[in-house]
Parts: sequence; structure tokens; C-alpha cells
Amino acid sequence: MNPTLSQHNGLPAILLDGSQGEGGGQILRTGLALSMVTGRPLRIERIRAGRAKPGLMRQHLACVQAAVEVSGGQAEGAELGSQSLQFTPGAVRAGDYTFRIAGAGSCLLVLQTVLPALMLADAPSRIQLAGGTHNPMAPPFDFLQRAYVPLLARLGVGLALTLERRGFYPAGGGLLQAVITPATQALTPFDLTERGAALAAWAEALAPGLARSVAARELEELGRRLGWTHEADQLRAPGVRQHEGPGNVLLATLEYAQVTEVFCQFGERGVSSELKARRLADEVLAFQHSSAATGPHLADQWMLPLALAVWRTGRAASFTASELTDHTRTNAAVINACLPVRVATDAMDGASLVRIEPLPVP
Ligand code: ATP
Repeated sequence: MNPTLSQHNGLPAILLDGSQGEGGGQILRTGLALSMVTGRPLRIERIRAGRAKPGLMRQHLACVQAAVEVSGGQAEGAELGSQSLQFTPGAVRAGDYTFRIAGAGSCLLVLQTVLPALMLADAPSRIQLAGGTHNPMAPPFDFLQRAYVPLLARLGVGLALTLERRGFYPAGGGLLQAVITPATQALTPFDLTERGAALAAWAEALAPGLARSVAARELEELGRRLGWTHEADQLRAPGVRQHEGPGNVLLATLEYAQVTEVFCQFGERGVSSELKARRLADEVLAFQHSSAATGPHLADQWMLPLALAVWRTGRAASFTASELTDHTRTNAAVINACLPVRVATDAMDGASLVRIEPLPVP
């Protein structure tokens, strides 16, 4: 590895410490994304130092390989277990791509890595993704489609997602298509500080390959906690294809005039259907009791596309979050280190305010 990597094409390198903040895989994904959009080479040390098994795991390697392919870049240190990586991006190329992750690594985290570069490209891209679509500790497909896609559309970016087959942890085997259409005009950063009027709220339990009683018990307990009923169509057990299992996720979708939020709990060995439902109810109630527009996961994922829009247009924008997790704070620190913007947070009554301002480019 080149120990002196300091610049490429006259652009200074991004140097990241993978142990900062919560020390997980997000530092790598955000670093790769921002290296591609700025053209700056990336050097990252102590990758995932905050995790029990540090270094690159299969799903992080898939993100590195996708970044190499989309940008015609080069990576050194892209090996399982590696704790340092040097990535030199080339020119980002819109086009057709296929990314597969063996097993249940989340293919949506691969999409999260390449989306920022492809949404700023000069033509649409079509991506086929294979792997996990419903994994613990990753955005489930439904979250991206219902919560994230509409916000990107307001920025001016098209992201059309088609789910062909769900892939649950640990088997994976899911399949989806993503078509990314960059904004035809300048991106339009906007403030998202209020959620607006409540329009609808419902839950669905997916349990392919498991006893029918699993979904029924989850929905019953959730309904009891939240006052949601079958009669009002708030408790649903949608059809699934048998070859999608075994797997289990309980999802709650809350639609408001300005934003839709999706919360979920996955099946886990030793966790009863009732406990899963109570955990999900607690997440939903925490969000409903706050006044924020975004929940904890949407907050950490919305920050990056909004920061890109602020950078590209020079116009500040903000949003409110029900909770600022370590993950969100770490992502903010990485964005601040890589882009000429300042992400700042303030406590408000019942929410936190995240403000992103452009910085003068030296
Ligand atoms: P590790 O934490 O082991 O390094 P990682 O790279 O898989 O692994 P994180 O850095 O924790 O993971 O990032 C996980 C990503 O998944 C974040 O963007 C987070 O917001 C998102 N995420 C996790 N759980 C959910 C959820 N329930 N809904 C939506 N998004 C989620």
C-alpha cells in the first residue's frame, strides 16, 4: 500500500479513521461514496475497529468492489479482514451494473454506496442487485422504497426500485432492480422540519417458511400496543412466495403529509413474536411522541444526499430527527471531513435539528 497517498490528479486525499465515533461499516461506505463524487482518493485505517470482528467483511468488500466498478477505480487492501484500504476513484460511469453478494449480506448497503455517485452522473443507470433485501442492521427494501425514494424525488433524483424476490438473513438470495435517474436540472435541497398531518399507519408481518402463527401473534400483540386493528386494515399479513423463506420481519409504516417512516423488527433466535412486537411498538411510539420529521435511521441516511445537494447548489437545508444516534453523528463527522459543507446539530423541543450549510471552497 502506498504510504504517501496524499493526492491524485491534484486533489487532496480523504484520510479517515475507521475507529472514530461508532467505528462501523458506515464510515467506509460514506467515505467511498464521497471519494467517488469528489474524485479525491480515500485512505481509511482501522476499518470497523469498533466491531467485535474488525476489518472488511464480505458485505463491505462488495461495497468496495462496486465502487471500483462504477468509478473505474482501484483499491488496495480490498481483502477479507483488511483494516486499511486505499481507494483511487476514476471517472464515474453511468450504465448497467450487476452486484451480487453471496449469502445474506445486504445488497441495499451496496446500493447506498454507489447511489450518491450515480445520482450525480450524466445519464441513468440500471442496477441489478442480488443478496439480502431484509437484513437486521441494514435498511430493509420497504424502508428504501417508502421512506427514502420519495425524499430523493423531492431533491430531483429518480430511484425506481423493483423487488423481484425477498432475501432474508441468513440465506439471502433476494433480487431487485434499481434504476437511478440523475436530476435533469440542479438538485433542489429543501427543509424537512415537520412531518405534516398523519395520513395512515399500518403494520405487516412477513414470515415465509415459518408457522402461520408467527405473523398472527406478532400482529395481535402490536395491535394491542398501538390500538391498530384488522378492521381498519392496519394489521396485514401480505402474501409471500415460499422460496423467499425462511425469514421474518414485522414492519410498521407511518405516512404523513411530508414524509413516510418505516420501522421494523426482524425474527431472532430466542426472541418471541410478542417481544418483537413490543420492541416495534416502542419504536413507533417514540417516533410518534417526538415532533421530528425523520426517525433515527432515516436521519442518518438522509444526511448524505441532502449534503450533496447543499454542496452542489450552495444552498443550506435542514431536517429534524427524533434521535441522533452515534451512527448519525459519525456519519455527520465523515461528511464534514470530506465535503465543503458543515453539518451541525441542535437540540430542540421534542426533536433534534440537523442543519447543513455550504462552506466557501478555498
Ligand atoms: P457494522 O456495523 O458491522 O460495521 P454495517 O456496515 O452493516 O456493519 P452499520 O455501519 O451499522 O452497518 O450501518 C447500517 C446501515 O443500515 C445504516 O445506514 C443504518 O441507518 C441502516 N439501518 C439499520 N437498521 C435499519 C432499519 N431498521 N431501518 C432502516 N435502516 C436501517
